Amino acid sequence: MTAAAAFGVDAGSTTCKVVAVDAAGALLASRLEPTRPRLEEQAASLVAALAADLGLPGPPAVVATGYGRQLVREAARRVTEITCHARGAFRALGHGGTLVDIGGQDAKAIRIGPDGRPVDFAMNDKCAAGTGRFLEHTAARLGVEVADLGARALAASTEESISSTCTVFAESEIISLIGRGADLDAIIRGLHRSLVGRIVAMARTVGLAPPLILSGGVALNPGVRAMMAEAAGMPVLLPPHPQLMGAYGAALLALEA
Ligand code: ADP
Repeated sequence: MTAAAAFGVDAGSTTCKVVAVDAAGALLASRLEPTRPRLEEQAASLVAALAADLGLPGPPAVVATGYGRQLVREAARRVTEITCHARGAFRALGHGGTLVDIGGQDAKAIRIGPDGRPVDFAMNDKCAAGTGRFLEHTAARLGVEVADLGARALAASTEESISSTCTVFAESEIISLIGRGADLDAIIRGLHRSLVGRIVAMARTVGLAPPLILSGGVALNPGVRAMMAEAAGMPVLLPPHPQLMGAYGAALLALEA
């Protein structure tokens, strides 16, 4: 196997990821776990486990990103998610555009210039309604797996309108819709519409230059992808391993250092 030359760690609020790249910057291997309270220990054990997977005596150069990046003691450098997601997506796709990263507790829109550097960004980390948490919370209330939500939204033949701009109030709305016998898939489609509307409005503040690129765990949701394309009026591009984009960008920066 090609030797791992650098690691990137993305200590996110919902998931913790570590990625290994080879000397040419190709993604070699990765690990991902739900984030636990002792993030410092979790990051150390994930890094050690990936090094063991690759038969390395210890980790090579490490760069950390994500909200918990200050706690990753193996890291030589800590870099913002904006820079890391932009770097990862630019390398994976080979061009700029508007990158939207939707994670568990925040969402960001990053306009990437033709040279791969972020030129503008906007972020929502104040309101759960524009993040993966909104879908997680409502999926739990509906008794549906998060991984199944997108397909169900796309399968719906009708759509319920969710007017609340807050996760807690949206949950009350869902309860009353269920009480009125509304179709579950139509409710799920309405929840997607609500999330997507918020995200596209944020992306417009940075210019929404095509193509629209999605990263973060919510990019795995086919309903979000299809409805984002519709709302933005442009196709959506998905890099390989969208949930690993921040860790991949961090590994590329570790390689350069
Ligand atoms: P963070 O980096 O902020 O910790 P992630 O980028 O890992 O978060 O995204 C986590 C979110 O991704 C979850 O809130 C969930 O909504 C969504 N998610 C994770 N896996 C899937 C999946 N298989 N299908 C759809 N959504 C998913």
